[in-house]
Amino acid sequence: MSRQISEERQTAYYAGMGMMIVGGLMFFSTFVTFAMHFGDFSNFESNAKSEMYRAFGGMALLVLGRIVMGIGARGLAGSGVILDPEQARQDVEPYSRMAGGMLKDVLDEAQIKIGSAESQKAEAQKIVVLKCLSCETLNQEDAKFCKQCGKKF
Ligand SMILES: [Zn+2]
Repeated sequence: MSRQISEERQTAYYAGMGMMIVGGLMFFSTFVTFAMHFGDFSNFESNAKSEMYRAFGGMALLVLGRIVMGIGARGLAGSGVILDPEQARQDVEPYSRMAGGMLKDVLDEAQIKIGSAESQKAEAQKIVVLKCLSCETLNQEDAKFCKQCGKKF
């Protein structure tokens, strides 16, 4: 079983993305031309017709692009084009693993920050002192003799 998203699916994903971009541009261009020709009724019928085609064509491309992108991301079975639960699980796996991986990266990064903050705190608290048994004076960690009474540690 392949643990990588196949090249065909990557191509489908990017092709779908391209279709959505083109479809989106087509769709929104109708608003631009509509605004440009606002109040100008000279070629109203042909303008309206071309805008209709672009609006519907753009919307169709958007929808189709989304489907193709979904197939690219989740595979034919994973996106419900082929009904095969076992294949779907396998197809979706690299995609969900990728999403999970991204989440894991974010968590790891956060963990590093938390970890470094924790270690800094621990570093600040790690002041080991030696308490003299006879006079109870606090001496430095590496002291050989008590600085107050001179008792050997
Ligand atoms: Zn002492």
